[in-house]
Amino acid sequence: MLELEKRSVVYLPGVGPKRGEILKKELGIQSYHDLLYYFPYRYMDRSRFYSVREMDEDMPYIQLKGQILTFNELGEGRAKRLVATFSDGTGTMDLVWFKGHKFVKDKLKTGITYIVFGKPALFGSRYNIAHPEVDLVEQSEQISGGLVPYYNTTELMKRTFINSRVIQNLQFALLDWIQGKREEILPEAIKQRVGLIEINEAMQNIHFPQSTDLLKKAQLRLKFDELFFLQLNMLKTAKLRQYKYQGILFARVGDYFNTFYKTKLPFELTGAQKRVVKEIRTDMGSGRQMNRLLQGDVGSGKTLVGLLSMLLALDNGYQACMMAPTEILANQHYITLLEFLKGMDVRVALLTGSIKKKQRAELLPALEKGEIQILIGTHALIENSVNFASLGLVIIDEQHRFGVEQRSKLWNKNKLLPHILVMTATPIPRTLAMTLYGDLDVSVIDELPPGRKPIKTLHRYDNRKAELYDFIRKEVKIGRQIYVVYPLIEGNEKLDYKDLEAGFELYQELFPSYTVCMVHGKMKPKDKEAQMQRFSSGEAQILMATTVIEVGVNVPNASVMIIESAERFGLSQLHQLRGRVGRGADQSYCILSSSFKLSAETRKRLEIMVATNDGFQIAEADLKLRGYGDLEGTRQSGEGIDLKIANLATDGQLLQLARDIASEVLAMDPMLEHPSNRCLQQRLAQLFTKKINWGMIS
Ligand code: ADP
Ligand code: MG
Repeated sequence: MLELEKRSVVYLPGVGPKRGEILKKELGIQSYHDLLYYFPYRYMDRSRFYSVREMDEDMPYIQLKGQILTFNELGEGRAKRLVATFSDGTGTMDLVWFKGHKFVKDKLKTGITYIVFGKPALFGSRYNIAHPEVDLVEQSEQISGGLVPYYNTTELMKRTFINSRVIQNLQFALLDWIQGKREEILPEAIKQRVGLIEINEAMQNIHFPQSTDLLKKAQLRLKFDELFFLQLNMLKTAKLRQYKYQGILFARVGDYFNTFYKTKLPFELTGAQKRVVKEIRTDMGSGRQMNRLLQGDVGSGKTLVGLLSMLLALDNGYQACMMAPTEILANQHYITLLEFLKGMDVRVALLTGSIKKKQRAELLPALEKGEIQILIGTHALIENSVNFASLGLVIIDEQHRFGVEQRSKLWNKNKLLPHILVMTATPIPRTLAMTLYGDLDVSVIDELPPGRKPIKTLHRYDNRKAELYDFIRKEVKIGRQIYVVYPLIEGNEKLDYKDLEAGFELYQELFPSYTVCMVHGKMKPKDKEAQMQRFSSGEAQILMATTVIEVGVNVPNASVMIIESAERFGLSQLHQLRGRVGRGADQSYCILSSSFKLSAETRKRLEIMVATNDGFQIAEADLKLRGYGDLEGTRQSGEGIDLKIANLATDGQLLQLARDIASEVLAMDPMLEHPSNRCLQQRLAQLFTKKINWGMIS
């Protein structure tokens, strides 16, 4: 056994403690295994040599073979540089370094044949390559087939001379140490069925491809591995959970649920809501612990489904809590629930970061005694000081904003595992859902409450503002309310707030007889709330805001959403914002205001928004346009799914196959005890021992 995951990379020739520390800090590479699975991000064809005579400024990266004639240090201060005259027999050019002079001079000698690689530039009438890669001829022969791997490195790494080339050398040393002796991690039958090459061959060729064909095969093999073991882990953990943990049995439907349903429900549930409530009831009444993801587009009525589920918990003598990602949203849920439950004997409380000490001091003991039955809140709910008497159901709203670890803290608040309902309005493409929530049962609300008119979405360039203001005037006059949203991009906050504030002043001038209010993330929670309150009560007609209102805010009378600089928002964010209107019976509008200058991709985004209201279509389009890594929500949550090689936007079919096979394997051999499956069990242990806890809760 090589035990790659137990060997510290520090002991690899060429690393040592100092570099080891940097690799760990910058790339999270600690073991041989970590290093081996640090894949190149691209490959460069270096089979062709160019000559100095044919050099041309427009060339991309090229390589030359020749010798250094002289070294000269030129210039002063920032322009100080080391210049080596390089000749390949057809002419001379310069190699230039602006830093690391000593290192270069120690390493490179005149009169030795090197292979030089870099991007040519013209300075005056002379060609040069700045900070070239320089290798001995023998060194570069490590690479047959001419495909050279390139590894991402960070600024700090570059400063300490751990560049792509150094990583390449480390990979070479590591593969040399392994000598193709790593044990196979997939059963023969699976490899044959999918048509996969052997693991050692794949590893060799992902770092040092012998041909483009073998590179493709290596990629297929490693993508499959990645997806397959993720699915296997998820499905196996879900099975295990069912075996091991008894769920809290909600055996009865009692007075809370029935009274509410019969006398308080202000409208008929939609068919989809009824179906989902039934799925949840069945789950919670099964004796198994529920882990359910509820997907439903914005405005589809998830809150009510959540409330009905909580009443079931109450009927069975348990408490319930609902966790929201922002204070605005938690407040709003709180108000909504109080409204819904008016006249019923249910004690609901709110706990957020801005609840005062004194209030907390009253609230926490009441919660611990079980007097508070429903607790609504933000992250504050997961603090250690928050204890329940008997927590039976946890609802997490807009789940993509919650990290797995945060959820796991909630989880530990009870001896028996509470039921978990995760609600998300961000439609998640199938491949992503399979990867992130593969072990959750999924319910979908695919129907909006009746009487809603589809929102009309328009795209307008900035030069038609006068028209826009006329439109706003008209809508306000007939009693509607308007949102105006400004972008807020990280790192650019100052400017963005200026935009918002300038907009605020402009609107106050433009609409003197109406009330304009403003919210943004920099306000104190109390002020934010007060402004929101002015808008939701109808006192203010126009609300100017940053994206703080993106999630979940509900003002049914607001029927116009104006998005300024719409080109600066992502698709799913635009869709979330649009979802703030169209909540009442009136015709609603979403107006995307943008400048003329749009990239092709941005234009496409806006076109999609105009073309469809369907969140799932938008999510799929988003995934295609931007790729998985950028998908909103996944990036924010730091969701522990860190795919190194597979791509959810393009590898959907492979993912499905991996999932099917994983599920077949587990159906035959749930504990992976069969000799031919023992390698799978071992691999799971290697990959997921550290993460086993989150596997249980996500
Ligand atoms: P979301 O799924 O985005 O969280 P909400 O739960 O906020 O949606 O519901 C949006 C609006 O629709 C709320 O005003 C809610 O009261 C209303 N609503 C929910 N269900 C129904 C229904 N069956 N019929 C009519 N209105 C409904
Ligand atoms: Mg909601």
